[in-house]
Amino acid sequence: MKEGRIYNFNPGPAALPLPVLEEVQKDLLNYKGEGISILEMSHRSKTFDGIIKDAERLLKEIMDIPQNYKVLFMQGGATLQFAAVPLNLIGEGQFAEYVNTGSWSKKAIQEAQKLGKKVNVVASSEDESFSYIPGDIKVSPNAAYLHITSNNTIFGTQFQQFPETGDVALIADMSSDIACRKIDVSKFALIYAGAQKNMGPSGVTVVIIREDLLEKSPDNIPTMTSYKIIGGKDSLYNTPPTFAVYIVKLVLEWMKAQGGLEKIEQINRQKAGLIYDALDQSSFYRGTARPDSRSLMNVTFRLPSEELEKKFVAEALENGMLGLKGHRSVGGIRASIYNAVPMEAVEKLVDFMKKFEKANS
Ligand code: PLP
Repeated sequence: MKEGRIYNFNPGPAALPLPVLEEVQKDLLNYKGEGISILEMSHRSKTFDGIIKDAERLLKEIMDIPQNYKVLFMQGGATLQFAAVPLNLIGEGQFAEYVNTGSWSKKAIQEAQKLGKKVNVVASSEDESFSYIPGDIKVSPNAAYLHITSNNTIFGTQFQQFPETGDVALIADMSSDIACRKIDVSKFALIYAGAQKNMGPSGVTVVIIREDLLEKSPDNIPTMTSYKIIGGKDSLYNTPPTFAVYIVKLVLEWMKAQGGLEKIEQINRQKAGLIYDALDQSSFYRGTARPDSRSLMNVTFRLPSEELEKKFVAEALENGMLGLKGHRSVGGIRASIYNAVPMEAVEKLVDFMKKFEKANS
C-alpha cells in the first residue's frame, strides 16, 4: 500500500489500479513529451486517435470479442443505455423482454416503458428481495431482445450462466462485472457498462455491439443515443470524454499485464472466496445472496444489528478501509472488490471481520 492511500471498497466510481494512477499523474502535465496535457489534447489529433483505437483493440483482445463486433465509447452512463437500447432496438409494433434482478434492472424496464415501448418481465427475483438469479429463463421467439443485468451491484448477485436465447438478441448491462471473468461474447448481441467500476473512471460508457444491429437504429432518435451514428463515426461524432477513454486504455493495458482475463478471474475468485468463506464460517455475519447466485464483485452481508453495522463501517474506516456501507436502499455491508482491489485489501478486510466479530459477539 502506497503511503497515504487507503483500501477502497467503493461501489463506483471505484478503485483504480495504482500503476494507472501513477501514469495519469505523469501524463497530466506533459503527455509523452508532446508538451501538452492529455486533458488539453484535441480529439481529432493523431495521438488521441491512436489512444481510442488502442482502447478498442485492447478490449477486443482481452475479452476475446469476435471480429463482427464494434466497441463504442458513449456518454450518459449506463443510465442512458437504459433508453438507448429500446430506442434503437424495439421497432414499431415490437416488444422486448427483461429479467428483473434488482434496482438497476427495474430502472432499465421503467426507462423503456417511459418511452412507450412494450416490455414483458419474463423472470424476477423480487419475491425474495432480489437475493438470487432466477433459473430457467424463457424468452419469446419473436421478442426484439432479452435484457439482463449480469451483476446486481446493490444485491450482490451475479448470473453464473447466461440464458439461452436462440435467435433472440441477448443484451446485458455489465456495468459492475464487465471483464471480471471470461465470457463468451458471441452469446450477446450487445453489452454495455458504465466504466467507473471495472474499466476506468466515470464519464464513459463502453458498448460492445454486434455490427448487424447498427443498421436497426431509427433515424428519429436523439443523435447521442444512436448506435448507427456513434458507431458510424467510430465514437468520434462529437467530442468524446477524452480523458476517460485514455484512462480506460491504461486500465486495459494493466489488465493485459496482469495476465488477461484468465488470471484476473482466478484472482477475483480467490478474493471473493476469502470473504464468502469468512461469512460461511460465522454465525455473526449473514450473507444476503443465495450461495448459487453470489457475486464475484459485490459481496453483501448483514451483522446482528444496524447499530453493529454502523460501528463496523466506522471502525473499518479507522483501519484504512473505505466504502463498506451497503447501498442506502438496502442497508447492511457491501464490499465491492472489483479487479483493481488488491488481494491484500481483501485479506485485511477478512482479518478485520474476524477481529470485529470476536470483540462484538
Ligand atoms: N447498472 C448497474 C448494474 C449499476 O451498478 C449502475 C451504477 O451503479 C448503473 C447501471 C448506473 O450506471 P450510471 O451511473 O453509469 O448511469
